[in-house]
Amino acid sequence: MTTPFHWPQATAFFERVERLNLHGLHFQHVRLCERRAWMHLHGISFAQWNRHVQIGMAQHDTSYARDRSTQGLFGLAPDRIDWKHNIVYESKGTGGAVEAVSDQTAFYALLLSIATGKTWRAVTHVLSTRKRREVVLDEARMQQLWESSERLERLAQQTQVPSAKRIPLCASCSLAAFCGYD
Ligand code: SF4
Repeated sequence: MTTPFHWPQATAFFERVERLNLHGLHFQHVRLCERRAWMHLHGISFAQWNRHVQIGMAQHDTSYARDRSTQGLFGLAPDRIDWKHNIVYESKGTGGAVEAVSDQTAFYALLLSIATGKTWRAVTHVLSTRKRREVVLDEARMQQLWESSERLERLAQQTQVPSAKRIPLCASCSLAAFCGYD
């Protein structure tokens, strides 16, 4: 049975997402590194030249070569949708950055819940281990997404590159070659 969806911030959240043209990856980036989120918001990306991203894209293309569940879903880009059971799936090559990836997956479930008025479930599918990780769309997760959307709004308005310290993620970040972390 599907649970009806109610969230007081739904209208304001949706308005911000539309106005800033936010996508799931913004919500992943902002949990990991504000500089990375800022670059993504301002259209700076060298992902196509990065080895890690190329491998991830190849894995993704192989896994979902025949999947058509997300066709026609303009502005939203999860990897697969089970329309019958209201479950949205996001695939990742490895199981790292759990909270940041969970936010990305939950973002899709939240937008689908707002759009349909039914509560959606979110699942991260880890390709390297073939494991599923369910992300619960509870009050805490929605509050986290709300706060991330506020941070993204601030970053979108900011003209200066935010300061950033070297973190473990830098080793595999597609922006590392020209980031020059402080
Ligand atoms: S290289 Fe590190 S500091 Fe720079 S954007 Fe990537 S994750 Fe952030």
